[in-house]
Amino acid sequence: MRKPLISGNWKMHHNHFEAIQTIQRLAYALSSSDYENVDVSVHAPFTDLRSLQTVIEVDGIPISLGAQHCHWEDKGAFTGEVSPEMLAKLNVSLVIVGHSERRHIFGESNEDINRKVRAVIAKEMTPILCVGETTEEREDGRTLEVVEKQLEDGLKEVKTSDVASMVIAYEPVWAIGTGKNATPEDAQEVCKGIRAKVENAWKSASEQIRIQYGGSVKGINAPDLMKQKDIDGLLVGGASLDPDEFSRIIKYRLLD
Ligand code: PEP
Repeated sequence: MRKPLISGNWKMHHNHFEAIQTIQRLAYALSSSDYENVDVSVHAPFTDLRSLQTVIEVDGIPISLGAQHCHWEDKGAFTGEVSPEMLAKLNVSLVIVGHSERRHIFGESNEDINRKVRAVIAKEMTPILCVGETTEEREDGRTLEVVEKQLEDGLKEVKTSDVASMVIAYEPVWAIGTGKNATPEDAQEVCKGIRAKVENAWKSASEQIRIQYGGSVKGINAPDLMKQKDIDGLLVGGASLDPDEFSRIIKYRLLD
């Protein structure tokens, strides 16, 4: 049985004061029983991580600390970059890799993404590998082909046991931050294709790997998405900035 994972991607929002307030308000909105049904992570900007680590540890908040990306090397002349080793030192446990904004705005290639996936695993953190098609690719009927290629390249040389414990986020590019989201049935179809691809290449990992859907998730559409057989969680951008709305998404069963 896969425990759902609901992750908030704060993108470039919330300075460290706002981050502290947000995590405290989120923790207040959630009760201990909520965490029995679902794992929760927040992926904050680098400048917030040290403050969030302290609050999470001192207050005993059962939310996992996440990062939004990293470099693949441990150290070196890479101005502006942060290494997986530095993140691990802050008790970061999950790292988003290959978010579409990193792919499209910052030109990250599948090869870079594969290096990052392997570097994150090497530091015993869990990568959330993002995959998804653009509008044009969807209109050309190439969604699965694109997603499968991103998986093949992103997971090159990753061991089956590591694939099993990681997370794939299916995020159609056209649905991110646009207010348009895939229908639960369309999202399920692609997530099912992702699981089939994992089964094909990494066999037993397919039963364990968690697959999230991301793209304009809100409290109102979370329950129907979470009902789908192959959707094991959600990656939430804009709506995760507001602790009340994010807590409604996490408590999705209540809205059911
Ligand atoms: C995201 O940032 O991964 C995302 C899905 O954003 P939004 O929920 O705002 O579409």
